[in-house]
Amino acid sequence: MTEIDRHPDKEEASLDRLRRMRQALAINIGIFALQLAGSVITGSNGLAGEATHELGDTAAHGLDVYGESNPGKAMLARKVAGSLILLGGAYVLGESINDLVNGHADNPGVKAAAIALGGFAGNVAISHRLHGIEDPSINSVGQMRHADSDVLKSGAIALGVAGSALFDQGWMDSAAGILGGGLTIAGNAMPTYAAYRGNTAYFEQGAHHNHSHEDHGHHH
Ligand SMILES: [Zn+2]
Repeated sequence: MTEIDRHPDKEEASLDRLRRMRQALAINIGIFALQLAGSVITGSNGLAGEATHELGDTAAHGLDVYGESNPGKAMLARKVAGSLILLGGAYVLGESINDLVNGHADNPGVKAAAIALGGFAGNVAISHRLHGIEDPSINSVGQMRHADSDVLKSGAIALGVAGSALFDQGWMDSAAGILGGGLTIAGNAMPTYAAYRGNTAYFEQGAHHNHSHEDHGHHH
């Protein structure tokens, strides 16, 4: 292990990074709670799809932190959480396709549209928090890239849900649900497979940020 640089600027930057990553995680949890409640209340497939995706992100980020001190238990938690999230994604995908095929795709209403747009705004806020990191670690760079792609995904889903409410087109909400459920499965399949294989290296690639990062030169 290399010595941690005790330069005050460095410590401040590292504290700022942690603070911003925690803020991003807190917003992530908030979006999940709002979308889960919203999907139950309005029956929106698009919100249900986004809720499973945000739950997957929250679990992944939380388990990255937990895994640093409890690698063995974290692998078990990754298997359980990954399997449940995959099931959730598959359920939303199935329901959305079913509603679409059987003509049950209903307009989820203005409330669902507002919550979906709120989720999009939350993802923009997460991306903004992570982009403000002055001294990025490999972990935080990975999260930043993911957050950028989440802005696009949640934007597409918000358009579907809002469009469904605005134009009274139920199929748009189901299309958003298919996108959300599909993305949840796509995003969680590899890490869950790696957890079942006991492939710890898969989860460690972003964990050793403080030394490997120094080689890539982000010195002030
Ligand atoms: Zn995500």
